[in-house]
Formats: sequence, structure tokens, C-alpha cells
Amino acid sequence: MNAHGIVVVSKCDKDEKSQIFKTMKLARKDMVTQIKALRSYKKNYELEKKVKKKVNRSISVLRCSIARSYMTRVKCTEPYDGAIAYTLAFIGTTIWVTPSYWEFDSHSHRGIMIHELTHKCLTGDATYFWDDKPRDFDGRAWSGIADTYRYWNENGTCIPEIDC
Ligand SMILES: [Zn+2]
Repeated sequence: MNAHGIVVVSKCDKDEKSQIFKTMKLARKDMVTQIKALRSYKKNYELEKKVKKKVNRSISVLRCSIARSYMTRVKCTEPYDGAIAYTLAFIGTTIWVTPSYWEFDSHSHRGIMIHELTHKCLTGDATYFWDDKPRDFDGRAWSGIADTYRYWNENGTCIPEIDC
């Protein structure tokens, strides 16, 4: 375990490696900020039972993602099916970033990494892309969708039933 946790990076050049280390560290901080925001929603709003359940699930996903980030290996890889980055849901410790990842700025890198980390904690995908707001999608609650967390990182934490 070094100062960066145990993130191991392969096939990325030196500059990419140091950027990934920084991104991981800041992504963890961002996720802590999201947890704090979610806790304040619980404190400040009389949440409906089903909304409260989603907020609690989100907190669990974030805590799990922070934990998973310490055992994550990021690998730089070739283009893959138009993906910016990808990982296997739950299984394994690798996140692959493709060349298009590097077209995004450092803030977006954090959101992309958070999206991938939450897949390790069983979130699924919905096509929010960059501008659409979090919502339940295709029978899946917003708390179980990876882009909810990326959206929060870009735009601030919000609750679809309250203020998204
Ligand atoms: Zn995804």
C-alpha cells in the first residue's frame, strides 16, 4: 500500500498514470461529498418511504464504491465499442479507459471513474448521457444507475423526487 492506495496502472504512460492516481483520490473525495449531501436530504426533508429507500441505497453504493476504489486497477486500452471507459459489473478489479477518455477534462474524469466504480457495486446503465437528469429508468431505480452518480459529480447532488 503506497500513498495512492493500491491502484495499479498498466499500459498507461507516466503522465496518464499520475493523472489517474489524482482522479481516483479526488473521486473518493467527491463521493464523500455526495454521501454528506444525501445525509442532509435525510435530515432536512420528510422523505417518502420509497424515496428514503433510494437515498439509503445510494449511500450504500457510494460507500461500496469508495471501498472498491482502493482495490481498483486502471488500465489504458484500445478503443472499445465507442466506450469512454468500461468495467465488468461487480466482478474483478479492473477499469479500462479508452483513448477517448483523455478527450475529457479532469472534472469529467472523476465523474466517469465514479460511474465505473459504482458498477462494481451493482449499478446498471441507463442512457442519461451528459445532460439528462437522473430518474428511474426501465424498471430500475435512479439509485441503481451509474450515471446518477456521474451526473451528481457534474451538477451537484439532487434527488429526482425533490429537486433534480
Ligand atoms: Zn456504465
